[in-house]
Amino acid sequence: MDECIFCKIVAGEIPSHKIYEDDDLTAMLDIMPVHPGHTLVIPKKHFANILETPEDLSCKILELAKKIGKKVVEEFGADGVNITNNTHPAAGQSVLHVHFHIIPRYENDGLQPWPHKQYGPGQAEGIASKLKMEE
Ligand code: 5GP
Ligand code: ZN
Repeated sequence: MDECIFCKIVAGEIPSHKIYEDDDLTAMLDIMPVHPGHTLVIPKKHFANILETPEDLSCKILELAKKIGKKVVEEFGADGVNITNNTHPAAGQSVLHVHFHIIPRYENDGLQPWPHKQYGPGQAEGIASKLKMEE
């Protein structure tokens, strides 16, 4: 993808602080970290989002994200880690090349959790049956 900023990073056309690379994946520091050590894992091949990414590659991305999650906890003494993905702009995706965020977190670091709502009476049953899936 010519105009994709992450493809340009993979191609070495734009500098980044890479912390890992293999045949399929790159991991680099996010340019605007939530906390120091905030890392992005991306596949080298362009897929717009995780829903469009093949299963084997999705698994590799998540496995690497887990390893980096353990590392940021160790290296920064983080109390926790968010391993998150935004899919589509409505969900906060600003770079349309699939990526997972690994964000070290700290007790009382002031970041707001997502607001939660409650289901109305009987509503959850209908929603669950809509989403029900076979093995
Ligand atoms: P999104 O909002 O799509 O889930 O996350 C995109 C992330 O990419 C943001 O956290 C943003 O700071 C990061 N980002 C945007 N441009 C660049 C860049 O040129 N280099 C790096 N390393 N990160 C970037
Ligand atoms: Zn791309």
